[in-house]
Formats: sequence, C-alpha cells, structure tokens
Amino acid sequence: MKTALITGITGQDGRHLAELLVAKGYHVFGLVNGQRHLKTMEFAFSSPEVELIQGDLSDSTSLRRALSLSSPDEIYNLGAISFVGLSFSQPELTADVTGLGILRLLESCRSLGIEDKVKIYQASSSEMFGQVRETPQNEKTPFHPRSPYGVAKTFAHYTAVNYREAYGMFITNGILFNHEGEYRGYEFVTRKISQGVARIRLGLSGELRLGSLTPRRDWGYARDYVEAMWMMLQHETPNDFVIATGKTHSVYDFVTAAFTAAGMEGEHQKYIVSDPNLFRPSEVEELQGDPSKAKKVLGWEAKTTFQELVQIMVDNDLRIEASRADLKLP
Ligand code: GDP
Repeated sequence: MKTALITGITGQDGRHLAELLVAKGYHVFGLVNGQRHLKTMEFAFSSPEVELIQGDLSDSTSLRRALSLSSPDEIYNLGAISFVGLSFSQPELTADVTGLGILRLLESCRSLGIEDKVKIYQASSSEMFGQVRETPQNEKTPFHPRSPYGVAKTFAHYTAVNYREAYGMFITNGILFNHEGEYRGYEFVTRKISQGVARIRLGLSGELRLGSLTPRRDWGYARDYVEAMWMMLQHETPNDFVIATGKTHSVYDFVTAAFTAAGMEGEHQKYIVSDPNLFRPSEVEELQGDPSKAKKVLGWEAKTTFQELVQIMVDNDLRIEASRADLKLP
C-alpha cells in the first residue's frame, strides 16, 4: 500500500485529492493546524479513513514530525494562504506559508535522509503569470506575478526547481489554472456567484454584489485537476506541467451561466451589482493555459466543460442553501 502526506488537506484540492487517493487504496495522512479548527473537525468527521497530523508549514519541527510519523511515498504540498484578495492584506503571512513552506518541507526531507525515496508535488499557480507576457501561457512563459500570493508561489516554484536540479529530488510543479467545484471556498468568485444565485433563486437574497466583471479566467473542475496531480507523480521523471482547459470566460459569463443553471436565464441584469470597493489594487485581467504538454506527456485533459462546472456548483449550492433555510428545492 502506498502512503501519501497531503498538506492543506482540508482545502478544496486536499479534499478532492484525499478522496481520490483513498479510492486508489492509499494510506493518506493530512497535515492540519490550529486547535479545534472547524474545517479540521468537519474533515475528520467526513473522512475517518484519513489520518490527521497536527502541524504547520511555518513550523519545521512539526514538518519533520509529520514526515517521520507518515513515512510517505508521495507528498502533495497543497497548503497555502491561497486567496489572492487576502494576500494583499496579509503579505508576510502569505510569503511565510505559501512561499517558505515548501522550502521547509524540502529541507525537512533532506534532514531526515528521505530525499531520494520520496516524490513531491508542489502546487504552483497560474497567478505566477500575472501580467501575462503571451497568451496562452505554457511552461516556458515568463512569470510576472501581480499579488503577494503570486510572488510567494513564484518563490516556491523556483525553490522546487532548484532542489530538483541541486539535489536530484523528485519534485514536480503543477501550474494549475483556476479550478473550482463543490468544495471551493466562499471567498472565491465562482463560489460567491453560485451561492449568490442559489440564494436569489430561493428568494433568500435580492442582489449579487461583485467586483470587476471583466477579468477572464481559464476555469476547470477541481476533481479533474487532482487526477492530474496524481498522474504527475506516477510519471517516471519530475517536470513542470500547466493544467488548464485552454478556454477562458469572464466573471460576467460565469454570472450569466449561473443564472441559466438555476433556471433564470437572462434575469441576471436585475440582480448584479459591480462594486468598485471590491476591485483589487492590481488586477490580473486574463489567464489562459496551454495544457498541451500535460496531454502529450501524461495523457491528461480536462473532462468537464464550463457549463457542466457551473451546473455542478449551482446545483450543489441550491441543495445547501435550501436545506439551511429549510426550503424545498425549486
Ligand atoms: P483568483 O484568480 O485566484 O484571484 O480567483 P478569484 O476567484 O478570487 O477571482 C477571480 C477574478 O474574479 C479576479 O479577477 C477578481 O478580481 C474577480 N472578481 C470580481 N468580483 C469578485 C468578488 O466579489 N470576489 C472575488 N474573489 N473575485 C472577484
């Protein structure tokens, strides 16, 4: 039986990946921080087969302990301060956890002498492309991050490359474009929209207040993307891969598709408000990935379309919001 250690296991990708690895027969360990953290308690309740270890990417001692306890064949470093908006107000915390976290993890592997046997996945991000130099972006596109989050992810990415080259460690960077789904945090725009539209459909809300409606993203389904993470570590050599759909849609497109998915086609104009207070200090206008290397080398491609993704998220939030308010599904 293979063993995996996942940092950030209670986040969106951690939850999808843990489900995938458990289904594949892995013994899964997850790093969790904080005392009586609600997300941790929920995770422990819903995934009893996963072993949780207390620790934090900002604490090397806890990382060494987690590695000793789990003896992993594979490590998936998904832990991060992952919300771009928050990174502007907590830039040092973001640099510490999102940037330095992988460095501490890699040094911990080296100090325990397991650097030759373990395979490591580093969650890189399309936010590293920021103010893009070319469209679509591939593994060779230069980075120009536009947020403390993007800067921290870029440090982490190059740290992974450096340890691969300097010490011959098996470390693969997955440069994932935005990926969404049922477990997406409510602070991200797709979830804010799917929840907002569900509440409007149920008569629980009268407006959908967003920031800028023009940014375009290459949105895929997180469940498809964690499969790519696993495939990257099964490949014989470590490498860097862009994971994306190759198609973009605007925030506005997501809103109109969500109203359609809720059975309210064309009604979005009545509810949508674009609030300048929610605009970002520096915006990334468009991200579009070129996933052709992942297709050619790994045989991976996105299975879920944009419309299917929006429908999954709206249906999920209609169920959640209806049950919270004790209402019948429309
Ligand atoms: P990101 O690509 O990692 O920053 O993912 P987000 O889901 O947080 O944001 C995607 C895009 O939606 C960004 O360009 C945001 O500026 C834009 N956006 C517009 N309104 C909102 C909003 O109310 N919340 C968030 N999170 N993003 C918004």
